[in-house]
Amino acid sequence: MQFTSESIEHVVELLSTLPTIGKKTARRLAFHLLRQPQEFVDQFASAMVQMRTGVRECSVCCTFTDREVCAICSHEKRDRSVICVVEQPSDVMAIEKTNDYRGLYHVLHGALSPLDGIGPDDIRLHELLSRLNMQVHELILALNPNVEGEVTTQYIAKMVSPLAIPVTRIARGVPMGSDLEFADDATLARALEGRTPV
Ligand code: ZN
Repeated sequence: MQFTSESIEHVVELLSTLPTIGKKTARRLAFHLLRQPQEFVDQFASAMVQMRTGVRECSVCCTFTDREVCAICSHEKRDRSVICVVEQPSDVMAIEKTNDYRGLYHVLHGALSPLDGIGPDDIRLHELLSRLNMQVHELILALNPNVEGEVTTQYIAKMVSPLAIPVTRIARGVPMGSDLEFADDATLARALEGRTPV
């Protein structure tokens, strides 16, 4: 549909590659941006470029950060003997919001999914293994309650078993098939509290 302009169509194409954004929404967003002052659009575009170039994975827990080591990993009050394993950086934020957890995290950036060709080398499992030393007294698995989360939970439990580090999983307060980041604070806090050995 080329009835407007090539540059608008280009932006619409790009926006519609984003998750949950269809063509119709993409077009609405493009028109919205066109109605904003030039300065706003410049800031918008440069903020995105800056985010992409400036943000990296924390060298310890692999979450997104502007620094070599993220604020949580470098915080002196955090309990270094507990590591909570999650799939996405957004899960870290969800658990932090509960204000109930004082340990560290490890972000896998995904979960094992043999059907989609996502294997152990495609998520941050080596990085996790390299963190597991005498200091770690508990590994909490807080993965999404779906098939991929379950496969990953079992895989990690097996991977860690020779190290004799207790592995727990969060309780099933989180409904099956849902995403951790969408669970409400109370449910998540309860699930964390009621974790069980894997
Ligand atoms: Zn970190």
